[in-house]
Amino acid sequence: MSDNNQPIYILPEGSKRDQGKSAQRLNIMAAKIVAETIRTTLGPMGMDKMLVDTLGDVIVTNDGVTILKEMQIEHPAAKMVVEIAKTQEDEVGDGTTTAVVLAGEFLKNAEKLLDDGIHPTVITKGFRIAADESQRILKAYAKDIKLSDEDLILSIANTAMTGKGAEFDREHLSKIILEAVKFVVNVDGTKVDLNRDSIKIEKRLGDGVEDTELVRGIILDKEIVHSGMPKKVKDAKILLLDIPLEIKETEIDAKIQITDPSQLQSFLDNEEKMLKSIVTKIANSGANVVFCQKGIDDYVQHLLAKNNIIAARRVKRSDIEKLALSTGAQVSSSLDELGKLGIAEVVEEVRVADDDMIYVRECKNPKVVTILVRGGTEHVVDEIKRVIEDAIGDISAALKVGKVIPGAAASEMELIKALEKFAQTLPGREQLAVKAFAKSLEIIPKTLAENAGLDPIDVLTELKSAHDKGEIHAGINVFTGKVMDAWKEDVIEPLKIKTQAIKSASAVAMMILRIDDVIASGEAPQSSKDQPED
Ligand code: ADP
Ligand code: MG
Repeated sequence: MSDNNQPIYILPEGSKRDQGKSAQRLNIMAAKIVAETIRTTLGPMGMDKMLVDTLGDVIVTNDGVTILKEMQIEHPAAKMVVEIAKTQEDEVGDGTTTAVVLAGEFLKNAEKLLDDGIHPTVITKGFRIAADESQRILKAYAKDIKLSDEDLILSIANTAMTGKGAEFDREHLSKIILEAVKFVVNVDGTKVDLNRDSIKIEKRLGDGVEDTELVRGIILDKEIVHSGMPKKVKDAKILLLDIPLEIKETEIDAKIQITDPSQLQSFLDNEEKMLKSIVTKIANSGANVVFCQKGIDDYVQHLLAKNNIIAARRVKRSDIEKLALSTGAQVSSSLDELGKLGIAEVVEEVRVADDDMIYVRECKNPKVVTILVRGGTEHVVDEIKRVIEDAIGDISAALKVGKVIPGAAASEMELIKALEKFAQTLPGREQLAVKAFAKSLEIIPKTLAENAGLDPIDVLTELKSAHDKGEIHAGINVFTGKVMDAWKEDVIEPLKIKTQAIKSASAVAMMILRIDDVIASGEAPQSSKDQPED
């Protein structure tokens, strides 16, 4: 209040402000709600969520990041938690539920310390120490993986797919994924790189998941442009173009004043000549397939067909790039300087489930391949695609880092044990924070158990005693409720899935803990919103 008892407004009208404890608690609550929402989907026995958007479209999924993206969360702190899932998705491609559930639990246990009067700065310091130490502990615990460890790679894929929509066909899918990986992986000395985008995943309704296939090349959602062209070409020599095969409109518009019919005829003759010369150049190159990023003139189509050359037009730029990597072609930007042609054993138009698609298959040394996902309903193929993406992400992360760990909460239990021991070396308050951090990791075994209808406390106790006895790979068999050796049971995950999840979950928890003031401006006035930027 000022001297004359008038309130002083430092914020615009309509702003909302939460301060101190209340701000902090509201943020923690929001983050916990997000974690709680997707917790039931964790693990092989996790349930799915059905999401219905404003248009009534339905998604049925078990994938953490997909659920959170679709939920359109508004609360700012909750949004920060959703960001963790997105980061996890970008960095690894799997483990999104784990990351979010961990963040919720870090905050829940931090809240207890706040209740005990421990300052947020002390908690965040302890969390930071614990997060760093976790990276070291997990790295030392992990085992090596090489590209030649094919059984391990299959196990990673199987683990990613356990209990998901792909459950029944996971053996078949894992083999396809391994094949795909072997084609597109880059090995440079001891460095292995697997670009997730180099395995294209297409989906088509119809048949069963077991009919999902690997295509050694690319499938284009396109038709052959002219009905007179062959539907199939063997020994394909492929020309990729990013220029139109037509005479530009503007050239024709360019102030042509025709005063008598003979001029018109000569103009048309001239145009025809130009179009003919386009096709002659293509035919001379030896190409029998043309993929063009732009349009193809009707007359050019007709002439190509006469030369038995297949063509597709308006192929997406991204597909042209992938075709180049699959077939070894160079993309040409001028008909006078045609780049190297690509090679594929077969290019053909195939009708799959009422849709025509062009297959470019049996490429010699493809650096991009395609997995064509089949399945009975749209929801099935969508979910299978997501699960395959998870598996590819896991394999990519495992090979890049070269390290794997056992799943089924084995790594978490070992981490808890090591962190508790480490905590003993720290002074009082930090020790409490590190212990709270370690305790938070229990949420993973507990949730895996709970989702499988098991008693979480019993499971945790049994796991603890196994690890205390030195069974460092002891995890929970969610199907039997018994403790198992997760490594021997081939439940294998990339190290990165855990290190990344812990890194981003703790980072967001710390960030939320440090916020003591939330200032939200009111709705922006409509007029200023509509103003263009410049
Ligand atoms: P996320 O989005 O975090 O990947 P998932 O639903 O895929 O969530 O569940 C991953 C968890 O399930 C991991 O903790 C993993 O170790 C565990 N898990 C996977 N397969 C098994 C299995 N066969 N037995 C027990 N736990 C498993
Ligand atoms: Mg997963």
